[in-house]
Amino acid sequence: MNGSRRRPGSRRIASFGETVFATYTRLAQEHGAINLGQGFPDFDPPSFVLNAYREATTGSQQYAPVPGLPALTETVAAVHGESLGRQLDPVANVQVTVGATEALFAIMQAMVDPGDEVIIVEPFYDSYPADVVMAGGIPIYVPLEPTESGDWSLDLDAVRQVCSDRTRLLLLNTPHNPTGKVFGAEELDALIDLAESFDFHIVSDEVYEHIAFETHIPTASRPGGWNRTLSISSLGKTFSITGWKIGWAIGPEPLIQALRGAHQWISFAVATPLQAAAATMLRQGADDGYFSEVRDLYLAKRERIVRGLSNSPFRPLVPAGSYFVIADSSALGYPDDVALCLDLPKRARVAAIPPSAFYSEGHRELARHLVRFAFCKEDEALDRAGQRLQSLN
Ligand code: PMP
Ligand code: GLN
Repeated sequence: MNGSRRRPGSRRIASFGETVFATYTRLAQEHGAINLGQGFPDFDPPSFVLNAYREATTGSQQYAPVPGLPALTETVAAVHGESLGRQLDPVANVQVTVGATEALFAIMQAMVDPGDEVIIVEPFYDSYPADVVMAGGIPIYVPLEPTESGDWSLDLDAVRQVCSDRTRLLLLNTPHNPTGKVFGAEELDALIDLAESFDFHIVSDEVYEHIAFETHIPTASRPGGWNRTLSISSLGKTFSITGWKIGWAIGPEPLIQALRGAHQWISFAVATPLQAAAATMLRQGADDGYFSEVRDLYLAKRERIVRGLSNSPFRPLVPAGSYFVIADSSALGYPDDVALCLDLPKRARVAAIPPSAFYSEGHRELARHLVRFAFCKEDEALDRAGQRLQSLN
């Protein structure tokens, strides 16, 4: 159109398609389907969150400092310091980011050199490989295996086999999207041992830390874990405000400094009034027992969706954490998960995500009989979706 013969995008992004969340939310809208695809709550956040938001309109509306608004970095340091049993310095050990998404991108930019390898557990949250590739790194995949008991196991020997002196990082996610796996102490210890032996670092994405139905163990709380780990969290899931995009990383000073070196050129600083509100709600949430309320809310929603699915052709694998459930869809006889998820919004007026989007190209076969439903939705929507899926019997 403008006469240029150059392709618009760089080689680096040439392999990227559209994120599945955009694709399947659009499909849900087209068919008026209940959206159990993209993971965002369809209900309002608690009133103390909205009150904190209103209060922040009267405070500063100008740039925050690069590490984050002091009120928020201090609160993050205090709240995570309590759960780690360690004194955290609000500036040396905390970096506020534009959601967990920016933390992940900035960490890769900050720590990965071209040709470095980053081990990714699959299925993975969909931005991980793109973050590694945009930094010039090479993603190396290790699959989780579903077990008879409905749990997912990580083959630690398989992880060991891909470790080498080229390994720069291991990207972990606990509680895990999309399987709901909550990593146990032994698994975390074994991964920390590998990080020590091969001298790499761990990035532990813990955005679902408060949506855990088994005990969530922060990776950095394990012996040897703190010095090796950048831990990531964000407000979106815990406070039902995915649109805010306020997140943070915590870790030892040299790793936070490296991350900050990249972050300052990516976003420089994060929305000041939202950080002010975040500080208030995080402190209040930690003091008032809100975190266990969130867990109980999602425990009840998990029971609800599992009940709905159990009377349908889908066989759910009960998740130990997160607000997602993976189900086996073999009984419906679709050729693969994409074919199912493209048809479901029209056929049953329910949208879901094909988990093959969370696998590397060579491993997509592992997901062909699976489907992911999000249950961060009103009870009524979960019940109606259950009925619609039961009509496929
Ligand atoms: N990591 C995981 C595992 C997620 O599920 C999400 C959800 N969007 C993110 C990171 C991104 O979080 P945020 O919205 O805070 O950027
Ligand atoms: N984390 C959410 C999910 O897995 C959605 C994230 C997004 O829309 N980018 O569904």
